Amino acid sequence: MSGPIIDLRSDTVTLPSREMLAAISSFPLGDSLRDEDPTVNDLQERSASMFNKEEALLLISGTMTNQVAVNSWCRRGSIVIAMESSHIARKESVSVSAISGCSVYPIEEERGLLKTEELRACLENPENLLGGTVGLVTIENSVNAAGGLIYPLVKMREVHEICREFGVPLHIDGSRIFNSLVEEGTDPGDAGDCCDSLTYCLSKGLGAPLGSVLIGSTDFISRAKESRNLLGGGMRQAGVIAACGIYALENNIERLRDDNENARLLGEALRESGKFQLLSDPVQTNMVLFSLIDPVKTGKLQEELDERGVLIDYRRDPVLRAVTNMNHSRVEVEEAGRIISSTSGRLIR
Ligand SMILES: *Cc1c(COP(=O)(O)O)cnc(C)c1O
Repeated sequence: MSGPIIDLRSDTVTLPSREMLAAISSFPLGDSLRDEDPTVNDLQERSASMFNKEEALLLISGTMTNQVAVNSWCRRGSIVIAMESSHIARKESVSVSAISGCSVYPIEEERGLLKTEELRACLENPENLLGGTVGLVTIENSVNAAGGLIYPLVKMREVHEICREFGVPLHIDGSRIFNSLVEEGTDPGDAGDCCDSLTYCLSKGLGAPLGSVLIGSTDFISRAKESRNLLGGGMRQAGVIAACGIYALENNIERLRDDNENARLLGEALRESGKFQLLSDPVQTNMVLFSLIDPVKTGKLQEELDERGVLIDYRRDPVLRAVTNMNHSRVEVEEAGRIISSTSGRLIR
């Protein structure tokens, strides 16, 4: 290994800053399972009011917020409609079955967004779907598999209106929703108005060490607490996590624009090199999805980039992904762009 390590595998690799860690000691703590941790309560109240909802619940991970949402909305035997490429469909469908006794019905995407005609057809004729009733519809924002695509506010609203017509709740998996909102200039409250529940991650671009927040109505959150307890997800002095979360909300939302901008610059550099095809085109948030024009050589590319200290994410071959994050400045991302673009001729015909 030579040169610096520029780690663009994900924004989950961000480390809590000194200031964030210092914030922990300045917040009061209590037993959050008894709703007595003032810092957890503060984070939850801020989260709910930001997204114009009644209540929120701090949980361990994004996966857990989604699973608790499914468990709170659905009866056993229900169907969860999800975007085909989504985290819920691809990475959590076993959890959906095992925990809630439900099944994921994946719907295709059209240019990264849920095909609304297909959603409507499913809701009109649920008997055609796995023989059950639809308990929940979910969408993702940003759309991870589409390379951090923004799910535009008007499109979320369209999906929500269809769901309302059929009396089915809509859950937004907003693990990276702030990357989208700052870029689109959308108020979180307007996004909250387009769904029945949503979640955002503290541990991705927001830079906290862990934690995700589930948001919805008072009634929904009280059911969510039961589901959380069922999973053993109740925490005690979780204010240590919430303090990082409050710090992140106050300091790290606006700066996501920098990550988005750095991803755009990286995308341009890769395109200009003539060696890569951009799959997230245009780059909208903090991810660049790309592939080698000669895809057979992905393994060699990885060898060389590892050697030169640039870490990226090797998805299903031949898809490559670089995720910008607060660990790396514009200068470092530009350097990564040069290194990736200058991979030696032996890789490229
Ligand atoms: C990361 C991610 C999750 C899961 O979050 P974890 O905290 O890793 O469990 C869920 N959905 C999407 C879209 C994600 O990107």
